[in-house]
Amino acid sequence: MRILVAEDDATLRSGLIQALETAGYDTLEALDGAHADTLLATETFDLLVLDLGLPQMDGLDVLARLRGRSELINRGLPVLILSARGSMEARVRGLDGGADDYLAKPFDLPEFAARVRALLRRGRPDLLKLGLLQWQWDTRQGKLGDRTLSLSHHETVLVECLLRKAGRIVSKSILASLIGHEGVAVDNKVEVYMHRLRKKLTSADIEIHNVRGLGYLIRAMEPVRP
Ligand code: CA
Repeated sequence: MRILVAEDDATLRSGLIQALETAGYDTLEALDGAHADTLLATETFDLLVLDLGLPQMDGLDVLARLRGRSELINRGLPVLILSARGSMEARVRGLDGGADDYLAKPFDLPEFAARVRALLRRGRPDLLKLGLLQWQWDTRQGKLGDRTLSLSHHETVLVECLLRKAGRIVSKSILASLIGHEGVAVDNKVEVYMHRLRKKLTSADIEIHNVRGLGYLIRAMEPVRP
């Protein structure tokens, strides 16, 4: 999942990026409207977080150009507007302009994260299949055949983060922050959870691979050829 964050306020932008990366998303940032517009015309994203008061090109213009483009790239891209223009008229203009949701500044990061999850859920299939595992995003449950996996809350949060980035490395510090551990004990804690997850996924034809010094990645096991 790749998210473009178009926000010119450096402090807010880094807060948003950090919240998104911690939740396991890939991010790209645009510091002004023109840059956002260029990125939207050339790269694919799963969500756009768009400030309205941007230098060089107003957020509403970025949105209008995005929705008006005839190419397939980023068609139907969900857009979450962030703006200090919290008035009802501004909200209506944003939503009429093709935004999917609107968050008035100031807001709390947990609410921002929840809105992001909700928007991404809409555009995502409910079910992810990897190896023999079937992961249901809405109920946050995994199945192996008919058997429902029994995972703790922390195990669920960690496996979801790995699944969102299946095939790519998730850093240990990101995983650690998800379970609220920081500092020296982090490595061990994450290790312990990964060990438990591996055990629970034993018959799933999935491996959780430890990439030394970098982090973990989850992937389907290669079929063994005789
Ligand atoms: Ca701004």
